[in-house]
Amino acid sequence: MKSRRTITFLAFPLMASCGLLLAGRAARTKLIQATPEPQQAQQTPTIEEYQPKSTLVTKEHRVERAKFPFIDIHSHHWNPTPGEVDRLVREMDTINLRVMVNLSGGTGEQLQRTVDVMKGRYPNRFVVFANLSYDDLNTPGYGARAATRLEQDVKNGAQGLKIFKNFGMDLKYANGERVHVDDPEFDPVWRKCGELKLPVLIHVAEPSAFFDPWDCNNERWLELKEFPGRARPPAKYPPFETLIAERNHLFAKHPKTNFIAAHLAFHGNDLERLGKLFDAYPNVYVDIAAVLAELGRQPYSAHDFLIKYQDRVLMGKDIYDVNEYKWYFRSLETRDEYFEYYRKRHAFWRIYGFQVPDDILKKVYYKNALKLVPGIDAKAFPD
Ligand SMILES: [Zn+2]
Repeated sequence: MKSRRTITFLAFPLMASCGLLLAGRAARTKLIQATPEPQQAQQTPTIEEYQPKSTLVTKEHRVERAKFPFIDIHSHHWNPTPGEVDRLVREMDTINLRVMVNLSGGTGEQLQRTVDVMKGRYPNRFVVFANLSYDDLNTPGYGARAATRLEQDVKNGAQGLKIFKNFGMDLKYANGERVHVDDPEFDPVWRKCGELKLPVLIHVAEPSAFFDPWDCNNERWLELKEFPGRARPPAKYPPFETLIAERNHLFAKHPKTNFIAAHLAFHGNDLERLGKLFDAYPNVYVDIAAVLAELGRQPYSAHDFLIKYQDRVLMGKDIYDVNEYKWYFRSLETRDEYFEYYRKRHAFWRIYGFQVPDDILKKVYYKNALKLVPGIDAKAFPD
């Protein structure tokens, strides 16, 4: 009885914003009076417990290995050991993952170590991107110094620059002022990337739902319950649209620099908007890392989008797990229907394959990355 009351109490703030649920609650109170209470409690699963098994019977095509060798443009391996790298290569071979891009190379000595342990031992299997150090952000001349460091990192083997999501959101100057995504202080860095033909893979903002109130209308309610720290409340963060406007201004300011906006630029839930972004900025590309469920819930739109913007989209996975790539293969290579996604907190919905023709699959899997990232051996890939 005690625990039941606690649950009702905790659930109330969420329900308060939900007229429908409140009405349902009143109806249930009546029901409880007529039904023995323990039985009722058992019959109402929590959102986490509710795992309905689909009764749909339809053709399934499990794809354990990509149809073509591919490049994962979005992976993270911090300071890997030689043993970890050996294991990675063995696993990569099982799924036709030809080249993995490690976005977490760091800078300076750390970058050198990561290049040595990955590329040094498997020259054709890994690419390492550098990251910026913000340690001296508050010392005048930061941008020029960061650009010089990046140039050195490139000499040491870096083939791109990754900007993490704290940029624009959590990164602040000593006076407390937020570093804006289009802060001119960083212009020397973006210019240097253009000059060296170095792609910038940049993560700006988060899914827009993280900026919205955490209530029962929020599409990512479950994820925010599991990870409350992912919420971006207005008291602490700029609005989603502010970050997007700053980001687009950055893209406009540096037309000679190629940007890969991570995670479908967080417009996976609005492909028309993403199309407009591509139309406005020819220097912008995206990866599909960790946002497959956005495409998988709109297979017709996703298919047509990939046909139209076939030169702008790159294969990526984000958090590495060799067993999770098969959802990407199945979505891109088949027309399977209504299958379960691998992360319920990203998508409580099921997804659909949006099979694209082989020539487009090749672009997404490797050709677009080969064009953008300097120094990958193209001979390992079919024409
Ligand atoms: Zn990432």
